[in-house]
Amino acid sequence: MTFSQLDRPVQFLKGVGPRRAESLAQMGILTARDLLYHIPRRYDDASTVEPIGKLGVGMDATVLGRVRTRGTIPTRSGLRIFQAVLQDESGMITCSWPGQPWLERRIQDGDTLLATGTVKFFHGKQLQPREFTVLARGSEGDAPVAGKGTIFVTYPASEEMPQWILRKLFDQNLDGLLPQSEDDEYLSEAERGDLDLPTLPDALRALHRPTSLAEAERGRQRLAYDELFFLQLVQARVRWEQTLAKPGIAHHRTNALIRALVERLPFALTEGQSRVLREIVADMTAPHRMNRLLQGDVGSGKTVIALIAMLLAVEGGWQAALMAPTELLAEQHTRRIRDWVAPLGLRVALLTGSLSAAERRKELAGLASGHVQLAIGTHALIQSGVEFHRLGLVVVDEQHRFGVRQRMALGERATNPDVLMMSATPIPRSMALALCGDLDLSILDELPPGRQPIKTQLRTPKQRDAVYGFVDQEIAAGRQAYVVFPLVDESEKIDLLSATQEHERLARDVFPNRRLGLVHGQLPSEEKDRVMRAFLAGDIDVLIATSVIEVGIDVANASVMVVEHAERFGLSQLHQLRGRVGRGAAESHCILIAETKEGAGERLKVFRDTADGFVIARADLALRGQGDLFGALQHGRDPVLQHADILRDEALLAEAQRRARAMVGNDPKLERPAHERVRAVLDHRYAERLRMFGVG
Ligand code: ADP
Ligand code: MG
Repeated sequence: MTFSQLDRPVQFLKGVGPRRAESLAQMGILTARDLLYHIPRRYDDASTVEPIGKLGVGMDATVLGRVRTRGTIPTRSGLRIFQAVLQDESGMITCSWPGQPWLERRIQDGDTLLATGTVKFFHGKQLQPREFTVLARGSEGDAPVAGKGTIFVTYPASEEMPQWILRKLFDQNLDGLLPQSEDDEYLSEAERGDLDLPTLPDALRALHRPTSLAEAERGRQRLAYDELFFLQLVQARVRWEQTLAKPGIAHHRTNALIRALVERLPFALTEGQSRVLREIVADMTAPHRMNRLLQGDVGSGKTVIALIAMLLAVEGGWQAALMAPTELLAEQHTRRIRDWVAPLGLRVALLTGSLSAAERRKELAGLASGHVQLAIGTHALIQSGVEFHRLGLVVVDEQHRFGVRQRMALGERATNPDVLMMSATPIPRSMALALCGDLDLSILDELPPGRQPIKTQLRTPKQRDAVYGFVDQEIAAGRQAYVVFPLVDESEKIDLLSATQEHERLARDVFPNRRLGLVHGQLPSEEKDRVMRAFLAGDIDVLIATSVIEVGIDVANASVMVVEHAERFGLSQLHQLRGRVGRGAAESHCILIAETKEGAGERLKVFRDTADGFVIARADLALRGQGDLFGALQHGRDPVLQHADILRDEALLAEAQRRARAMVGNDPKLERPAHERVRAVLDHRYAERLRMFGVG
């Protein structure tokens, strides 16, 4: 089924024969549309192009000139240097590329080159380009000149499909293709007006032939919006299926239990807690199903929120379940929640894999009869045979630790219970909008008052002895410590310290009189639990670990977190690790031992200087880029987002979500004639790329 002329194979375009079609295919360009949406990766404003005659040593400059002569010169050291002499109206300069003799094939006499680099002095002035573009082949027509208002564009190119050919293809075809992009236009004039975005033909023209950088940016915003909108559309559809399409429970709030709990709490809820509670209560008391993600930093007080939500369900005669990723966490929740609800006359069942058959039978009977109102447990909660009398709310703690299917399984009950997921790994709002568009979001972005800040320090490997000396002092004072390594075993990465090896060394040479324990992800879970319990009981002084302790247990007496090779960890991961200490009254310390070469130091300083998980997550995202983030979801060669930058385009993203949800809310299957175009564009341009978001 052909939707548009743009679906034609690229080979039908002017200047594209079978060979070029093959080269384009290798870059993922199969159709005319693919070529049209092959957008420059770089723009150079001609007004920033420096006349060659004015170049001075030390300048960093972009120049435009024609290649007069070229050649490769050998040096005594064996290094071969490719050189080309560039000339413009004002003068000439030698460009040199040490160690790149193969450029002789790419750059030819008479070529027009745009080159950016630093001017050095080496037998005269030389430019050493770090970037260059062959704008035109010498033998092929007119050379581009830098007129006023000219913007030079550089396309992503390849060896077989060089820049100058791409530019020629656009010269030959762009004017013909632009009007055809009308076929992809799904925004009405009114919508474009509201969004302040150009039409697709205008946007694409601006991207390929901008007359200013600002114009190219407007074009980019249009394509960015399109990507974000269709991403949100797919997610909005999933959200509709999971929530709006299901007859849910309209919970009834009597306040009987909630008031009794809140009166007994030794603290007042923070502003933030009250706000997210209002969001949750509104969602739970509405007749549709809730599918909400509560994000809050470690220690921000999510448990009490979850409990209040659970009490709201119970007040109206329903049961509630809380699923945690480990037995230890499930036990910890159970202890705390039992303390809180025992005076209210509620019964709490704890369901884990290590119950005896008799205990399990008893708990199951209580849940099935409705005698027990609250269930807390691990995966054991979703095993077959677990029946609830009337399950009305499911809370999933540390939701990222469960697969989608496990998360869903607990909610797959005839009653369509509300679902509240919790995450203590803060991700920036923009990232949550992009990745979790199928969920509703509540963000708890403040900590309860009176927390002691954790002292964070950066140390080099040379200072390791002093760090361990400090750890020893803390132990002498009755405290406990964690030491975390990036690896379990010495693998191919011989230069990294590993947990197992260092456990031996530390036990023998550094802490001969202390009790050491070891946990890592490759231990059987019973063994992990056993060691963690011993640490919790105070029977271990120093716990050697890998990042498996990231999400874990509250050990109030632990006051030091040492992270070895801290440069190997993501900032958000470090933040999770730091959150393991500072849970008691004692002053706590997080000490990062790191090689601070190659910018790692800057990254770690960001971490040292802020305690706010959301700020850290944002910095982490900015540093690592969004590619990483979508990496796991990507398939094929297209990144999920080619034009949008979720940090920069956060406002656009929020707007895209709002509009996508409204559209799906009115017409879930996009069946109305008014949405025909949107559906066609979804199917033709985005369905493949976004498939992963649809199965969530
Ligand atoms: P997390 O969000 O990591 O699950 P918790 O729910 O474990 O955080 O809360 C951390 C600690 O803060 C707990 O001891 C809890 O009782 C306490 N807490 C929660 N809310 C408040 C508040 N509003 N004021 C003071 N302490 C609070
Ligand atoms: Mg928690």
